[in-house]
Amino acid sequence: MNKKLATIALAGALSLPAFAAQFITIGTGGVTGVYYPTGGAICRMVNKQKKKTGIRCSVESTGGSVYNVNTIHQGELDFGISQSDTAYQAYNGIGKFKGKAIKELRSTMAIYPELLSFVVAKRSGIKTLMDVKGKRVNIDTPGSGTRMTTEIVLKAFGIKHSDLKQIDELSSSEGPTLLKDDHVDGYFAVFGHPTANIKDAANSVDIDLIPIEGKPVDMLVKKYPYYAKGIISGTFYKGVTHDTPSIGVKAVLVTSAKTSDKVVYTVVKTILDNFAAFKKLHPAYKTITKKSLLDGLSIPQHPGAVKAFKEAGIL
Ligand code: GLU
Repeated sequence: MNKKLATIALAGALSLPAFAAQFITIGTGGVTGVYYPTGGAICRMVNKQKKKTGIRCSVESTGGSVYNVNTIHQGELDFGISQSDTAYQAYNGIGKFKGKAIKELRSTMAIYPELLSFVVAKRSGIKTLMDVKGKRVNIDTPGSGTRMTTEIVLKAFGIKHSDLKQIDELSSSEGPTLLKDDHVDGYFAVFGHPTANIKDAANSVDIDLIPIEGKPVDMLVKKYPYYAKGIISGTFYKGVTHDTPSIGVKAVLVTSAKTSDKVVYTVVKTILDNFAAFKKLHPAYKTITKKSLLDGLSIPQHPGAVKAFKEAGIL
């Protein structure tokens, strides 16, 4: 090697980052939902800066919120997306998490709103939530946030499992196929809208979305700070031309108190710095603002996230 080449090789070696690459994984949901593309959008932005930050981000498709918070607790995921009601119950050790509080769970940003969606085949004749009695429905897996919220809402309406003709516990990702095969009359899913999942269903079966409203919803919204009312627009899905009122939560990027301030700060700062580009990555982000990322966090925020929001002048 001549002297010049040797110098270039040496300079190349010296310009390597002085820190070891750090790998982080975000737990999401089924691939046709909104968590999965959201994790993908975050990772793509974080990875664009990996030379500078040393952080490499990857996503994992999972069963959803409950799986994500439990797996963060086990130390096998660094971040996860979770419904705000799931995060609240997990942190406080109530409901499904009674006696199993995840005290180290922290929020970073509450990305976008999600609404409980009761997707039915028109042929089922279901017009209101109470019509679910005597029908076949999918209520998602125990690892999903959908399952948790669906159980809470059914209970508030006084609907028992024994009122249903058949209960399936498959992932909401299977919902469109279950409807198409006439295996169920409807399925529940807590999603941001519009979502590919319900578009798939609407493109293969005549579907309807059932309003979830009335006194039980008013009661839940009044009682729990993380529930809010919302509307699924009548413009999103083929064949559903009416607006559908429902009850919703926020999709929150959560992590553990054990995740370093630097990593959390980098992830949150990356999204805040590139917010206009981020917003364009999914139609479910249409109404979000940098400020709305702080609404509905439901559990304490990680100090790394607090630092990024403070620097951006939002906190
Ligand atoms: N909210 C859903 C759940 O936690 C997942 C939604 C999605 O994958 O977009 O079960």
